Amino acid sequence: MKSTLAFLSYTAAARATGANICCAQLQDALDTKITLPGQSTYNTTENSYWSLQEANLQPGCILRPSSPQDVAKAVSIIVGVDGCTFAIKGQGHAPAAGFANIDGGVTFDMTSLDSTVLSHDKSVLSVGAGASWLQVYEYLDPYNLAVAGGRNGLVGVGGLTPGGGISHFSPRVGWACDNVVNFEVVLGDGTLTNANQTSNSDLYRALKGGVNNFGVVTRFDLATFPQGNLSVTKLAHDISQRKAVFQAFTDIVVAPKFDVDTSLVTVLLYNSTSKAWVISNSAVYTQPVVNPPVFAELAAVPSVSNSSEITSLAAYAKEAATPPLNWLFATATFKPSAKFMLDIFDILNGTLYSFNPEGGIVWSIALEPLPAVLVSHAAKTGGNVLGVSPEDGNSYVMLLSALWPNSASNPAVDQISREPVAKIESQARAKGLLQKFQYINYAAPYQKPLASYGAKNLEFLKGVSKRYDPEGVFQTRVPGGFKLA
Ligand SMILES: Cc1cc2nc3c(=O)[nH]c(=O)nc-3n(C[C@H](O)[C@H](O)[C@H](O)COP(=O)(O)OP(=O)(O)OC[C@H]3O[C@@H](n4cnc5c(N)ncnc54)[C@H](O)[C@@H]3O)c2cc1C
Repeated sequence: MKSTLAFLSYTAAARATGANICCAQLQDALDTKITLPGQSTYNTTENSYWSLQEANLQPGCILRPSSPQDVAKAVSIIVGVDGCTFAIKGQGHAPAAGFANIDGGVTFDMTSLDSTVLSHDKSVLSVGAGASWLQVYEYLDPYNLAVAGGRNGLVGVGGLTPGGGISHFSPRVGWACDNVVNFEVVLGDGTLTNANQTSNSDLYRALKGGVNNFGVVTRFDLATFPQGNLSVTKLAHDISQRKAVFQAFTDIVVAPKFDVDTSLVTVLLYNSTSKAWVISNSAVYTQPVVNPPVFAELAAVPSVSNSSEITSLAAYAKEAATPPLNWLFATATFKPSAKFMLDIFDILNGTLYSFNPEGGIVWSIALEPLPAVLVSHAAKTGGNVLGVSPEDGNSYVMLLSALWPNSASNPAVDQISREPVAKIESQARAKGLLQKFQYINYAAPYQKPLASYGAKNLEFLKGVSKRYDPEGVFQTRVPGGFKLA
């Protein structure tokens, strides 16, 4: 009661809304695990978002749970208070406003649940849902083990995994979500349960692609595999070399037998201030092989810089934090065609070249192979809901992203960013090169990634939601992210 009184004196306005009544009740039940605006832990969470759009939202209070039971208790309290809403935050790398933070509601900052525990036989790593991939890799490296996770160390296990998750190892073992053997999850009525191949198997499948629509995941149990050092080649090419680079990229994607140790990201970078395009490639081979033959064609293209090293997964995943900036993502998936990649560049250049908001903007268009072999692994572990199958053939995913410092430009950036995506999609569709799949972890808020999984998968997801969350807590009380309706 003392903490309730302290909370109510915090601001007169606090008494008015459901959200603040809810924060007061949460404080009573969870004490110092709840922090309020102005407190240092509250600010730590607010400053930890990757995008300014997320960091600028102001939750009424923030929960930093110490246990899954704290999460369960918090959900039970929240659903009992009319008008109380919440957001779930992992490592805060989804750029769009409201995906993992919330104005006036309660933000669950799951980063306080970041334990890593290896099973006795070392086949399964249990990871607290708030951990970063770097924490996971630093823990596993000394054992010469790895799991399928994000390529950048600061990205969260909590957001990447239920959205699919493209890993360096995905051609070898599948999406990150296909490598989850068990989810520990808090449902909308506050029940703490597990979902795996034998228990709640429908929820298990739904959580592999269904993001935050079913519960708050508190722990991921991930299948490990033996892994030593990687080969990492970084290549930068002048934009005039794009035809040869696109051909080399396409030849890798369409190879009759995709080399499953290949992890390639080819990025078109454009800086509006210098008006310069450059191509950068991160060519990773998941074996300690110098100059792996799979990248020979790419490496033969005259480059402006070329460096190679054999390094550990953790060392490569370690990245410097970026300064606070505005970011956006949008995505599409295509059948391979070097010729169409040239069209993609022409559309990007035609639509983005002259746009130079105050403070400048950097566009980054990442192209990532999605070979049929990658999506073939899902069947071994009960399937997922992403709606991509080996029959779709080899593809590649485009992640269009932008970063810019000046928040006053946000509406203009949002508007202009839609232009190239729409044009590229329309031309790809006309040429029979557009795949229906929109990767949810790369999608813009205006896109429809859950619908892109196909009608059958979407219906399945809605059914699972009705069974496990009949009150629709994760549809209405957790408004952030892509919803099923
Ligand atoms: C620099 C960078 C590198 C990236 N690299 C990769 C990559 O290699 N491969 C790849 O596939 N993707 C990559 N991504 C995309 C990434 O998968 C998504 O941005 C992902 O959402 C980030 O997860 P997070 O926990 O950091 O984000 P958050 O913003 O914290 O969460 C993202 C979403 O997941 C939900 N969520 C988070 N935790 C939980 C939980 N415990 N239970 C239920 N829902 C939860 C949130 O509510 C939110 O809607 C990258 C993104 C960035 C910015």
